[in-house]
Amino acid sequence: MLPPKPAEPYHTELVGFSGWRLTRLGAQLSRSPAGNLPDPLQNQTGPTIMHSLESLPFDNAFARLPSTFYTRLAPEPLPRPYLVAASAEVAGLIGLDPAELARPEFPQIFAGNQLLPGSEPLAAVYSGHQFGVWAGQLGDGRAHLLGEITGPGSGWEIQLKGAGQTPYSRFADGRAVLRSSIREYLCSEAMAALGIPTTRALCVVGSSAPVRRETIETAAVVTRLAPSFIRFGSFEHWRVLRQMDALRQLADHVIERFRPECREAANPYEALLRDVGRRTGELIAHWQAVGFMHGVMNTDNMSILGLTLDYGPFGFMDAFDANHICNHSDDHGRYSYKSQPQIGHWNLYALGRALAPLIGDQNAVQAAIEESYAPAFEGHFMNLMRAKLGLAQALPGDEDFIGETFGLLQDHHPDYTQFFRQLGCLPARVADAGRDAADAPVRDLFIDRAAADTWLALWRARLGAEARPDPERQAAMQAVNPKYVLRNWIAESAIRAARSGDYSEVEAVHACLSRPFDDQPEHERFAAPPPDWAEGLAVSCSS
Ligand code: AMP
Ligand code: MG
Repeated sequence: MLPPKPAEPYHTELVGFSGWRLTRLGAQLSRSPAGNLPDPLQNQTGPTIMHSLESLPFDNAFARLPSTFYTRLAPEPLPRPYLVAASAEVAGLIGLDPAELARPEFPQIFAGNQLLPGSEPLAAVYSGHQFGVWAGQLGDGRAHLLGEITGPGSGWEIQLKGAGQTPYSRFADGRAVLRSSIREYLCSEAMAALGIPTTRALCVVGSSAPVRRETIETAAVVTRLAPSFIRFGSFEHWRVLRQMDALRQLADHVIERFRPECREAANPYEALLRDVGRRTGELIAHWQAVGFMHGVMNTDNMSILGLTLDYGPFGFMDAFDANHICNHSDDHGRYSYKSQPQIGHWNLYALGRALAPLIGDQNAVQAAIEESYAPAFEGHFMNLMRAKLGLAQALPGDEDFIGETFGLLQDHHPDYTQFFRQLGCLPARVADAGRDAADAPVRDLFIDRAAADTWLALWRARLGAEARPDPERQAAMQAVNPKYVLRNWIAESAIRAARSGDYSEVEAVHACLSRPFDDQPEHERFAAPPPDWAEGLAVSCSS
């Protein structure tokens, strides 16, 4: 049975991009100054106690939910597992001694061949809307939740992705390939370093086991960490089955474990929806500001905690194009760059419909979404864009100026990352005689130099409204405009090397992207736009 479909389209009623111009409709703009932006997972510092693999203390609160929420089952072993990459930083988050990464047991364990003492592997059930259509039951078709770490490294669930079939695999093989596992590993860690809420990745383990995709590839398992992998679709699942007790238990679990402040509200479930609306709005503001495209924003890939979840055919913007579609399988561009804000809104309505029986009042559902998502998206996006442009204060007219900026980018398609990074090198004031030379780092990204000059004059006029000294502004801009992002060509070159047994490039990319705002002469090559060989690289849903 189908749930009532969220109404479409939203672009007439939602903040976001209308065409490529930034529009502001129906939401109050936050006037708070740039900076001081919350990032939920960034303040987690690693514990000081260092565990061995065998002494990691496990619990699994999700496994205490009724057994209808999951199926307990062991991962399926993989032959001859080998370590492709592992993150000492992520090991530190769960209190795992980084020396453990070098043990021969490590790849065995994170291929799913040996169980960690205390872990209780299970696959969770969920449903979801895929490409705007109700898809019915999905679930962890290739993910095994091992449990959650307790004690000093607590707060992280550990999941193996690609460790074999589950009752939710449908007709698929339960496996992940080396290519997609490296992409997920590198991108989760790159996003974390950019300050964007995300699941994390501990390691990638490969195996010679063949896996059939468009061609025959080899298997791999990526180990992911998150406080929870619960999705919007986890709630839709119980709503569609009309199992209200289960729906309530799931919502109570999320509130109890992650959002205890919602319990204090008059209607805790409405408070939860508002919380998800706000976090999702902030998350997508981050994506837009950094030029990240998720690629498959189905409701089963939307985290109830507002994390970037399920890295598949994602992409970072190279030459700016608001219509860019990073997922080769997304024929109609449902998940194009410019559509992401309104899809976030659409997905919240799917979640809102699922939570409606608990909230009890349709109007309250609508108000919870409208008062949380768009204001959070817009306020956060404006703050992030001001910071990228070197503006410390929020002033009237900023929206228009930011709209002009996106207009320039859309008309002339400079490299998005380089544009902002290089803008941060320019002086606020420059004599006419020296202007072309001073502005070269930005002008040279444009064929039409005059268009760049016109916009730069506007930018300087806006900077003139603030009295920030150049060194301070330039340092602030370098701290928010990454020099390095995980461009497709970079992931692809690391994957090609890994396929031939050389994992050093994966390690180099990982190291570089863990400091995306720092100049790293040894990694200068990763700051470049796509080389000729990477023109037309296509990334599909196949993973
Ligand atoms: P995704 O598009 O990766 O978010 O996956 C959508 C659904 O398909 C989820 O239920 C996944 O667990 C499942 N799925 C994707 N790939 C596989 C696979 N190779 N084997 C089993 N299930 C899969
Ligand atoms: Mg998924």
